[in-house]
Amino acid sequence: MELAHAALHECNHYGCHQLTSERFCEKHKHSYDNSRGSASKRGYGRRWRVSSKAFLANHPFCVRCLAKGTYTPATIVDHIKPHKGNQTLFWDKNNWQPLCKLCHDKKTATEDGGFGR
Ligand SMILES: [Zn+2]
Ligand SMILES: [Zn+2]
Repeated sequence: MELAHAALHECNHYGCHQLTSERFCEKHKHSYDNSRGSASKRGYGRRWRVSSKAFLANHPFCVRCLAKGTYTPATIVDHIKPHKGNQTLFWDKNNWQPLCKLCHDKKTATEDGGFGR
């Protein structure tokens, strides 16, 4: 066993140059253990879950399907204008629309094509 020779590389935390034999250095290891996949990091916290759920209760059908005359239960609250981390846009209910998963995936796929405005 040659533990001392384990390959060292820089910690995977952005901007951290601490050398480690694991994915993250001692300092960052723990913050990643617990928050892996955590939604709150991207601004989607508990407040968003509660608000979007209430929004879907008031707007139960996908607007895109509805435009085609189909009633599909909406499961996703989508931002009409991409918020890109802008908190005002993010929480502006006028910028929210209910979508079903299929329409949301389609929108995401065509987003860079200048959809809408
Ligand atoms: Zn680190
Ligand atoms: Zn739909």
